[in-house]
Amino acid sequence: MTGTRPKHAALTQFPIVENCLQIGGLTLTRLAQQVGQTPFYAYDRQKITERIALLRKHLPEEIHLHYAMKANPMPAVIQHLAHLVDGIDVASVGEMRAALDTIMSADRVSFAGHGKKAHELSCAIAAGIVLNMESEQEMELIAELGNEVGIRPNVAVRVNPDFELKSSGMKMGGGPKQFGVDAERVPEMLRRIGKLGLNFMGLHIFSGSQNLKEASIQETHEKTFQLGIQLAQHAPSSVKTLNIGGGFGIPYFPGETTLDIAAIGNNLKRLLPDVKQELPEAQIVIELGRYIVAEAGIYVCRVLERKQSRNEIFLVADGGLHHHLAASGNFGQVIRKNYPVIIGNKVQSDEKETVSIVGPLCTPLDLLADKMELSRAEVNDLVVVMQSGAYGLTASPTAFLGHPAAVEVLV
Ligand SMILES: *Cc1c(COP(=O)(O)O)cnc(C)c1O
Repeated sequence: MTGTRPKHAALTQFPIVENCLQIGGLTLTRLAQQVGQTPFYAYDRQKITERIALLRKHLPEEIHLHYAMKANPMPAVIQHLAHLVDGIDVASVGEMRAALDTIMSADRVSFAGHGKKAHELSCAIAAGIVLNMESEQEMELIAELGNEVGIRPNVAVRVNPDFELKSSGMKMGGGPKQFGVDAERVPEMLRRIGKLGLNFMGLHIFSGSQNLKEASIQETHEKTFQLGIQLAQHAPSSVKTLNIGGGFGIPYFPGETTLDIAAIGNNLKRLLPDVKQELPEAQIVIELGRYIVAEAGIYVCRVLERKQSRNEIFLVADGGLHHHLAASGNFGQVIRKNYPVIIGNKVQSDEKETVSIVGPLCTPLDLLADKMELSRAEVNDLVVVMQSGAYGLTASPTAFLGHPAAVEVLV
């Protein structure tokens, strides 16, 4: 069957062959046979590669691109990305170990996150990675542990800026925050870094996540550079890295559009000459998680039952919120909206119906699609949640109710 392509921005990135979604050059039905079970996540290697190429094309070439691996820490994904990006940002010692298993050298791995414990810091100091310090207490502890380990720690200061990333899905800077050190306290901290003899690398200013407004990202970049330049005057030595965060969003819901990376890149090209003059030794780093991997991934589960209740149809699937919390609407969304969902082996059909797709968990929260119009699906058809390459499996309560685990494949 032919038919027009779906108009939703999120549904156009994979080919559809004989009405079946294709990922990594395989039809979905074939891939499901190869994986040997549902539910599973599949990530498209080529799409990840293309995404990095797109960023390289539009961002100024001086920009260093880091992967924030909490978005998708699957070992095969980070192994692949380690060849394509300039650094990996980790948020735990577990992530650090996975990052150091790749070809990425330790000095290009950075460790952010508040609440780092002493033994984690010792491991990181011994590894020689860069510690993004989130408080004065952490700084003092790092200095002590550096003496114990016998290695001079590489440190940067995570700054909680005095502005917010407007229109961001999740704000992680500005106002009172658990993240970073308030900008006004950073000068004092920078003086202390010199006294403690830590190896000062630079500043990390991350403001927020899932932003789809070019203008607010551009404004944030400008303010971040201003703040970085201003704080650098208090630094014990020259700034070698200025990490300006990321927060580039992707479209999930109808009406959301793809971010214009060229516009963001052009703005950076306009701003960089001044930054280079003020901070001649600084590498400018952008760290991205979601933007690099989210659109390259799908979550696939199978219809177990068509169930009618009063006058509504429920498709009961073998997957749900225990593998994909975000698609159920319970990972930071204020108002629940449907993720882009399709019947992957019947993408288009003349026979449509409005259905809710539920997972097998005994809670009304286990909802993958709420009254969506989809191709009519039968038992054994494949439900696909698009835009699922980031904050999927590892951001889900996999132990809840004890159902079987999902498999992940990179194709
Ligand atoms: C989570 C996080 C990121 C990645 O955010 P995305 O929205 O996935 O790009 C980057 N930097 C830091 C410090 C983070 O905590």
